[in-house]
Amino acid sequence: MKLSKKIIGLLVTATAALALPAHAALKVFACEPEWGALAQELGGNLVEVSVATNALQDPHQIQARPSLLARARSADLLVCTGAELEAGWLPLLLQQSGNARIQPGQGGHFAAADFVRKLDVPARLDRALGDVHAAGNPHIQTDPRNIALVAQALAARLQQVDAAHASDYAARLADFSRRWSQALARWNTQAAPLRGVAVVSQHKAYAYLYDWLGIREVAVLEPKPGVEPSAAHLQQVLATLKSSPARMAVFSAYQDPRAADWLSKNAGVPAVKIPFTVGGTDGAKDLFGLFDDTLQRLLQAGGQP
Ligand SMILES: [Zn+2]
Repeated sequence: MKLSKKIIGLLVTATAALALPAHAALKVFACEPEWGALAQELGGNLVEVSVATNALQDPHQIQARPSLLARARSADLLVCTGAELEAGWLPLLLQQSGNARIQPGQGGHFAAADFVRKLDVPARLDRALGDVHAAGNPHIQTDPRNIALVAQALAARLQQVDAAHASDYAARLADFSRRWSQALARWNTQAAPLRGVAVVSQHKAYAYLYDWLGIREVAVLEPKPGVEPSAAHLQQVLATLKSSPARMAVFSAYQDPRAADWLSKNAGVPAVKIPFTVGGTDGAKDLFGLFDDTLQRLLQAGGQP
């Protein structure tokens, strides 16, 4: 009798140990690499980040892989851009996940675009002719000031969904914000020669970047966001450049460079690839590298008069 009580006691102890793992990280499901990187900055070893897409994929055209479903099912917090960027795949994934925590309106659903001032918001909602920016420009990560705003909001959300570690998230946010402010001051100084520089963009992906740096976009190679550049439209852009010359044609690492290359050859301006998100180029290893490398590439192509 004595012995069996002891065995039961041991079993109870063992079961309790299994039920309470020493370290249960908060599972974060990030839609894009920039938000995965930010969640990692703010969460450190308190979070286990899984990123749904990579820098060489067009964020508008992603096919959700079946393996994403398992990760969505177990996620505690979803961190995406919002502003309809993931409209083509996320609603179905959320529905199929059956995960109540990460549905829109829940604490576990975080849309970064809700926390910044959106640009290119149309006066009238119009999805005609394949415009994929009908809810305003969703590419908010191209301005480091937006990253700072999203960091504040995301840290608050992490504190909300993982209240036991609230003070850790506050400390990590303070550390990140200090390093980010220093970097921003450096970038502002470095980027001064880009102010007023005229460029052509392949996709309307850099409205926030240009707003930050004072760059002027004189033409876009896609006739509408998400619509492939046609030969006729490219000729029109070339004609525009005769009266409004540009210093370079900018495209993202994930894009087919042929349209920018064509313009480069015909207008005699360099085609400049920028990382667009973390992982887009070798230099863009993290959020800091993303802006270091973007500025370096823009300055190299067009920073001198
Ligand atoms: Zn877009």
